[in-house]
Amino acid sequence: MAQPDPYGADHRRRREPAIEAAYNTPCPRCGLPMLRGQKLHFGHTKDKGIEPWSKADRVEHADYDDCPTGGNTAAGGRLGRQIQDLKPSRVW
Ligand SMILES: [Zn+2]
Repeated sequence: MAQPDPYGADHRRRREPAIEAAYNTPCPRCGLPMLRGQKLHFGHTKDKGIEPWSKADRVEHADYDDCPTGGNTAAGGRLGRQIQDLKPSRVW
């Protein structure tokens, strides 16, 4: 059985041309050029953790392999931890 796709067909259809167009343009996180062969993510200007309805709208490095700032993966992890930290530690 196919895995449920969190992004859907629309995301997949738009991802390929977006990444193709992003090669040799600066990564929005670190400013270094995104090169063919690097791992790139089709990410969100507004993080999905904050606005789950937002659509992927920019290409960025995937992680620390290519991006000094950790790319999309590190940002998602940071956001997840922040959301976790904001949860009350007990019921008032
Ligand atoms: Zn980067």
